[in-house]
Amino acid sequence: MRIRVIGAGVAGLAAAFEFARAGCEVLLIERREGPGLGCSHLAGGMIAPWCEAGEGADPCVVDLGVESLRFWTETAPLAVAQGSLVVAPARDQPELARFARRTSGFQNLDAAGVAALEPDLSGRFEQALFFPQEAHLDPRAALASLAARLVECANVALRFGVDADPLTGKADWTIDCRGFDARDALPELRGVKGEMLVLATSEVTLARPVRMLHPRHPVYIVPRGDGRFMIGATMIENDEPGRVTARGMLELLGAAYAVHPAFAEAEIIETGAGVRPAFPDNLPRLRVKDRVMSINGFYRHGFLLAPALARRAVEVALQGAYFPEVMDADQDQRRSA
Ligand SMILES: Cc1cc2nc3c(=O)[nH]c(=O)nc-3n(C[C@H](O)[C@H](O)[C@H](O)COP(=O)(O)OP(=O)(O)OC[C@H]3O[C@@H](n4cnc5c(N)ncnc54)[C@H](O)[C@@H]3O)c2cc1C
Repeated sequence: MRIRVIGAGVAGLAAAFEFARAGCEVLLIERREGPGLGCSHLAGGMIAPWCEAGEGADPCVVDLGVESLRFWTETAPLAVAQGSLVVAPARDQPELARFARRTSGFQNLDAAGVAALEPDLSGRFEQALFFPQEAHLDPRAALASLAARLVECANVALRFGVDADPLTGKADWTIDCRGFDARDALPELRGVKGEMLVLATSEVTLARPVRMLHPRHPVYIVPRGDGRFMIGATMIENDEPGRVTARGMLELLGAAYAVHPAFAEAEIIETGAGVRPAFPDNLPRLRVKDRVMSINGFYRHGFLLAPALARRAVEVALQGAYFPEVMDADQDQRRSA
């Protein structure tokens, strides 16, 4: 079967990977000059299904996320499985209890437990939640690596710097993974802007992502190695890419400083803002129309959910499968067949 994938963000790369594994002939087309340069470029790279439930995500995000976690740690082992740590300042301890009530898969830690896991946080937090099964990756390195693996496959071709139209082109199926640029085909898609920054310091060492809870501005720190830390992310209901605000940086830097004061002396090596593509319920969808399948609406869960959606896309295309958790009822392939 010939498959044309449009867009080489995490959605398109995961789809190309799974269709190639299923033996299809895959052509992946990306308008930018390389892989993962859209919204995926700005991501934190947390593969954290249980923490997302703590933040209020739908239960299906946990199920799909656990499946994707296996992809990133076993199928394409590009993630580091060191778990995640969730902390809160003393005045926001009720936030920690609220987070714990919404989720599972964690251990309660006291101050000694925090110090044992992250020695640099010794004496800074009396309580924390530890999610031992979660993982994290460097989104840029991971997507470059996925693209490099695809280049090596005899049944895959990649084209960069090419603008494609989902409605034209010869293939048995076109997989539309254009992210927020697919608004022409998906009018209900909205943008949720996220600002981030990267700090460099040799004075802090963290082995795993640390989430700092706050009633208004929950923030996370993801270690990237070599003394670099991604700090993210704001959640703003607009679709204005690129513009980084002073307020956003204040929130992120304030939280980083609250996790460890040495971040005040860190060098800011990058700031950025991306637009997360989201449907009204913030859940991803797989939509089928006339041999065009769109995979979109990943919101803040592109790395967490794209592999699970990619696997489902293969089963829809090859076997006419139907997945009610991510497909609309009128797209039941069995009924329409
Ligand atoms: C600050 C921030 C932090 C985040 N942190 C996390 C996190 O920790 N974990 C997580 O799971 N998610 C995270 N996310 C969310 C995640 O980044 C997104 O859900 C994900 O990147 C969406 O991927 P995508 O492939 O749908 O879109 P994109 O990455 O935008 O990819 C779409 C691609 O399609 C290409 N394209 C568009 N139109 C065409 C065309 N006509 N022809 C060819 N190519 C085209 C674009 O150039 C682009 O490369 C974060 C997002 C932000 C902004």
